[in-house]
Amino acid sequence: MKIFLKTEEEIELMRAANLMVGSTLAEIGKAIKPGVTTRQLDKIADTYIRDNGAVPTFKGFPNPCGGEAFPASICTSVNDEVVHGLPTDCPLQEGDIVSVDCGVLLNGWNGDSCYTFSVGEISAEVAQLLKTTKEALYRGIEMALPGRRIGDIGNAVQEHCEAQGYGVVREFVGHGIGQKMHEDPPVPNYGRSGNGPQIKSGMCIAIEPMITMGNPKIYLSDDRWTVRTRDGKPAAHFEHTIAIHQGRVDILSSFKEIEKNEK
Ligand code: MG
Ligand code: MG
Repeated sequence: MKIFLKTEEEIELMRAANLMVGSTLAEIGKAIKPGVTTRQLDKIADTYIRDNGAVPTFKGFPNPCGGEAFPASICTSVNDEVVHGLPTDCPLQEGDIVSVDCGVLLNGWNGDSCYTFSVGEISAEVAQLLKTTKEALYRGIEMALPGRRIGDIGNAVQEHCEAQGYGVVREFVGHGIGQKMHEDPPVPNYGRSGNGPQIKSGMCIAIEPMITMGNPKIYLSDDRWTVRTRDGKPAAHFEHTIAIHQGRVDILSSFKEIEKNEK
């Protein structure tokens, strides 16, 4: 395992990339309403990212499962779709949820963040899933202090979600991030405290709980990208890229603009 530690200067470059992801997600959030298609959201993202001098890293990303390279600039995962959903011409409907995962490359450095949006009014049950998944993300982030271990992050996420009867997806995990979108170490959303690589100053990681309303078992769709829950129940996905430096956790991506628009 090769973990690249970043300098203060490099962390600032990563912040710029991640803030651009945050503002891209906010642009998408403004457009989300019943009747809009995820392909339209993809177009908004692609235009916004390129207009701001960055490159959408997901487009053309090689398929680890042997299918076509990723054809879009964002992943849009609706309801029972967990991750890596392909944008389609199917209109979103009132009561749906859609996880929008976005990655950009800016000046050679990567940003990566995901937010699960509500389409119109959603049920109280699904709203609780979203709230818990976002809380779990921050529980994990709080654990990412120098001297702690990667397992402490996963343990915090897992305990928070399983206490409410939700499922934690095992097959997909968070990751180190830097000049490559996926670097060491893997950052699972489950695990035991005190296990895994030690967290060190200069580490940049993406923490991204993928949490299911029911059973955490998943399957890969025929398109070789879209991952769905086997039981057909909804799943939520929130992701921040963070840096550990100056003795603390620094969240490089941002939900501020998104949350401002949600109110
Ligand atoms: Mg992501
Ligand atoms: Mg990621």
